[in-house]
Amino acid sequence: MIAAYAIGANSAYVYIRGEYHKWIKLFQKALDEAYEAGLVGEKMKTTFGTKFHVNIYVHKGAGAYICGEESSLMNSIEGKRGYPRVKPPFPAQNGLWGNPTTINNVETLTNVPAIINKGWEWFSKIGAEKHPGTILYGVSGHVNKPGVYELPSGTLLTDIIYNYAGGVPGNKKIKCVIPGGSSMPPLRGDQLEGIAMDAESLKAAGSSIGTAGIMVMDEDTDLVRVLARISKFYYHESCGQCTPCREGTGWMVKILNRMAAGHGQKDDVELLLSVANNIDGNTICALGEAAAWPVKFMVSRFREEFESRMNNSLDHPSLNKVHSMRHSKITVE
Ligand code: SF4
Repeated sequence: MIAAYAIGANSAYVYIRGEYHKWIKLFQKALDEAYEAGLVGEKMKTTFGTKFHVNIYVHKGAGAYICGEESSLMNSIEGKRGYPRVKPPFPAQNGLWGNPTTINNVETLTNVPAIINKGWEWFSKIGAEKHPGTILYGVSGHVNKPGVYELPSGTLLTDIIYNYAGGVPGNKKIKCVIPGGSSMPPLRGDQLEGIAMDAESLKAAGSSIGTAGIMVMDEDTDLVRVLARISKFYYHESCGQCTPCREGTGWMVKILNRMAAGHGQKDDVELLLSVANNIDGNTICALGEAAAWPVKFMVSRFREEFESRMNNSLDHPSLNKVHSMRHSKITVE
């Protein structure tokens, strides 16, 4: 409501993944109560001391990841197929039904009431100096207590993993952590000490805060299979409009699957990087990069693990297992 008031918008949409039944119900209930109390809608009381009113609608997605991209999100609300739009024009110029539109994550907007009530000075003192506020850290993978933790920006990565998320099962060592969602550069397990979870610190460490989705992988993790699984996700979620993304994501999955199954061919690593480079920067929306970067980053940082799965390095110790798998069909889920 405050954001709508600030930009003079009389309609606001909250777009939620259709799978989030519980939270959709909760949000709709709160919205219905707000309507009944006259806080939202045409009968809105003069909450801000003006005649301003806003209608708020909850719109459920139908399961497509790409509808989190702002222009396909607008197409989805308009009842069209969730294809990203070519930009420009940007949503602020020509957005929902041709109107100027501002799109923000709910996580961002939820900071606004607290800032208005307590002041920017209060807010600027939370967390990292140049990236103040709290962050929703989504911790997954090899931790005892996966979940979403709201903590100040700049919280130490090791603090989140070991103190909040309960450490690694079996006290195993960590091989790899992706600190900002699957497309961001991974950090090696021996690099984690002292890394703070804010934009500047992660940039300095060679990664990025991204979505703050922290993916922890222990020492026994097969990174080839991890990358095959990540690539399969982007292949599945590609909307198919751009040839590099539609075709390239499929080729990356095929190459990684054969490497994971022990059928890696000579030069597969170079071939993978070549496909990823041909996607990167050549697509309508950022899903192309989101699919290419995990391949580029993971292969460059753990190259030895990928090279060990090519047929020209059969003497690598990890290949003993691969040899035994050679004639069995492996499906990467
Ligand atoms: S990059 Fe991929 S998801 Fe984005 S528009 Fe092109 S094909 Fe669709």
